[in-house]
Amino acid sequence: MNSSNTLSTHDITRIQDKLLVETTNYAYEHSPYYKRKFDDIGLLPSHIKGLGSLDLLPLTSREDIQENNWTFLSVPQQDIAEIVSTTGTTGDPVFIALTSNDLKRLASNERKSFSYAGVGKGDVFHLSVTCDNLFIAGIAYYSGLVELGASVVRIGPQNIVRHLDLIKKIKPVGIVAVPSFMVHMARFMIDSGIIADELGFKKIVLIGDSIRDADLKNNALGNLIESIFGNICYSTYGITEAQLSFCECHMHLGLHSHPEFVLVEILSDNDFVLPDGEIGELVLTPLQIKGMPLLRYKTGDITFKMSEPCQCGRNSVRIGPILGRKHQKLKVKGVTLYPKTIENALLGIKDIVNYQIEAFIGDDRTDHIVLRVGSCRNDNDFIILLKDLLKAKARVTPQIEINHPEEIEKRLFEGGSRKAIIFKDRRLKSYEE
Ligand SMILES: [Zn+2]
Repeated sequence: MNSSNTLSTHDITRIQDKLLVETTNYAYEHSPYYKRKFDDIGLLPSHIKGLGSLDLLPLTSREDIQENNWTFLSVPQQDIAEIVSTTGTTGDPVFIALTSNDLKRLASNERKSFSYAGVGKGDVFHLSVTCDNLFIAGIAYYSGLVELGASVVRIGPQNIVRHLDLIKKIKPVGIVAVPSFMVHMARFMIDSGIIADELGFKKIVLIGDSIRDADLKNNALGNLIESIFGNICYSTYGITEAQLSFCECHMHLGLHSHPEFVLVEILSDNDFVLPDGEIGELVLTPLQIKGMPLLRYKTGDITFKMSEPCQCGRNSVRIGPILGRKHQKLKVKGVTLYPKTIENALLGIKDIVNYQIEAFIGDDRTDHIVLRVGSCRNDNDFIILLKDLLKAKARVTPQIEINHPEEIEKRLFEGGSRKAIIFKDRRLKSYEE
């Protein structure tokens, strides 16, 4: 099994130069969207000679796919093996078609990710994420584990009693879950007197919300989970549109990319390429995709990249944790932050039942935040505690209102929203999340 684990930086560059040229040619020849785009801007595939000419390629946004979804399809319809979609939290979902080769690529990407986390043949994994409803991550994890020779208990979303019952009977080495599920499990265990040793997890592979801060140490969510289960979490980041994921190795120093599957860029607000360590939008060019290739896809996710070798010895580019969504960026009294930072700061406070963060533009034409907290506590000490914590963790002192949790619940689902509106952005004419 050839592995990118030990590829030198020189080898990675050589492989990526070649794959970028191939991807560009393929997109131009097979994708009606890119053929038109290249022709519109007068770009020829032959202009792309390798990584050095990456920035000549046009950027692709989620809106581009939303508006032109099926013109990205680059194979005859009969070659589609599976259609997946994004969850549609920001506007209409986009559909992504995968060929059978793309499914193999997906499995291969995930096999590598699990191997970086030290998972190997014979390891039993409890898969608690959904494998249906057009959701790509579930099948990616499933097929990656199978390809690695591990054994999968494909339970998906079930009630917590069923999960714990199975875990006690089968004794898996690890679990794949979203962080909020592990918090739910931890709280249930505390209430029921179950200790982590009874479950025996050696690894927890987390998908979705980040459990690390920009300094790569645990955020409140990570602390909450690891205080119960031990320091056994591996954070991952996956993106449906690019059909790939990034993962932590045992050093937990950011999320490794797999060089043969993706090129990583970080762009400024004005779409300039940023150097290592600078925070901006994650832009990905997935490699070796046949069904719906994408060039320089703007993920909308905010992070930074690290190109120096990891302490594990691998040379693949790593990204930091996802710090927020680009369109949710706030600038409060000169401090840049994302609602996620505030959410993370609030996680560790047990008297908070629910909350809503509202942003608006004040009379001074700058961003302001109102934090509405649902709690049965409404004393001065509580408000001081909240203010101190937000100052320390998020470097802001928002206006704080304490309400009854039922009041906040009404706000969260205002207008019949099916998804809780945790961040209400009144800076925009209309908001979607
Ligand atoms: Zn590493």
